[in-house]
Amino acid sequence: MNQKPIRSSYIPYGRQWIDDDDIKAVTAVLKGDYLTTGPFISRFEKAVANYVGAKFAVSFANGTAALHGACFAAGVSEGDEVITSAMTFAASANCVLYQGGTPVFADIDEKTYNIDSEEIKKRITSKTKAIIPVHFTGQPADMEEITAIAKNHNLIVIEDAAHALGATYKGNMIGSISDMTMFSFHPVKHITSGEGGMITTNNKDYYEKLLQFRSHGITRDSSKLTENPGPWYYEMQFLGYNYRLTDIQAALGLSQFKKLNTFIDLRKKYSSMYNEAFTNIPAITLPSQDKNGCSSWHLYVIRLQLDQLTATRKEIFDAFQQENIGLNVHYIPVHLLPYYQNLGYKQGICPKAEKLYEEIITLPLFPAMTENDVRDVIYAVKKIINLYCKL
Ligand SMILES: *Cc1c(COP(=O)(O)O)cnc(C)c1O
Repeated sequence: MNQKPIRSSYIPYGRQWIDDDDIKAVTAVLKGDYLTTGPFISRFEKAVANYVGAKFAVSFANGTAALHGACFAAGVSEGDEVITSAMTFAASANCVLYQGGTPVFADIDEKTYNIDSEEIKKRITSKTKAIIPVHFTGQPADMEEITAIAKNHNLIVIEDAAHALGATYKGNMIGSISDMTMFSFHPVKHITSGEGGMITTNNKDYYEKLLQFRSHGITRDSSKLTENPGPWYYEMQFLGYNYRLTDIQAALGLSQFKKLNTFIDLRKKYSSMYNEAFTNIPAITLPSQDKNGCSSWHLYVIRLQLDQLTATRKEIFDAFQQENIGLNVHYIPVHLLPYYQNLGYKQGICPKAEKLYEEIITLPLFPAMTENDVRDVIYAVKKIINLYCKL
């Protein structure tokens, strides 16, 4: 293709939206008294807790650290198994390894691409300690069934809601449902603090463990000290980490949070434009939405019906690059990553996730896109699929 690309400038699959208010919020902190652990930490935490309807929120340096903290608070340790989805980012499973536990991958539901509750049931053993469902693309997992399974088997549920800030399940906000829920504030996510993450919980015991875990395992809380020789005194009671968010980041996060509803509305609007434009293209399968959930649309993933196309996924991916349209593939199933392969996880343990991985592409979707950007992507999808369609 030597023709002019559809776009003269490159559009990525996702990126942040930063405006003057965000910049002012950050520079104000830089001129103030606290660069880290100042007033914006608790303001940001309270804002998110209130929004999702949870009693407590604890911020972390990033979402992965937050997941690590949640696994610690849940008591995950050597000999414990934790079930998570095969179709996710490595962090959803790495957090279990950090604690010496064993991630167990469950296959996905073919409609929603979320973890399949029946597959969870098959993988429960006497060693199972927790379930980490992932709300893939922002669409809530089957939380009613997962909650019931957890109750039956006395398991802790940690939701990986990195994609799902603002999503609801049967009318309840994600972040209010399970033992703990993790949000990420990486620049491609709904709101950003540069790097950042948070756990929301309604459980005071988890809350206190999370606070102590993110700061070396140290406490100054007089009710928790074994002795109290003076005001300087603190105790390190377990091995924690320095996983704190800075005040600079919390101020950015809080400023972004004020725009969250606008961001989500735009994500929903753009996904509807895609849904509408692509309804009559049999060679692609659109993201199917379960009636129990309301997605906050972090990603727009389409599945290629490769038997109806003359090109491979790689050729189609490259064709979009030629048009200056950035795509991504979410995700390489975690158990196929070389590190996990070396740990002994075998190809074939989650066949549906493995097949899905071969056939998906993620289209650009982020609030800083314009409607014209969305139209460019639609035009490119139609052009490229038409070009390679067998029919
Ligand atoms: C982004 C993401 C994380 C990790 O968040 P970070 O803030 O980047 O550490 C975990 N799980 C999923 C599914 C994610 O998309």
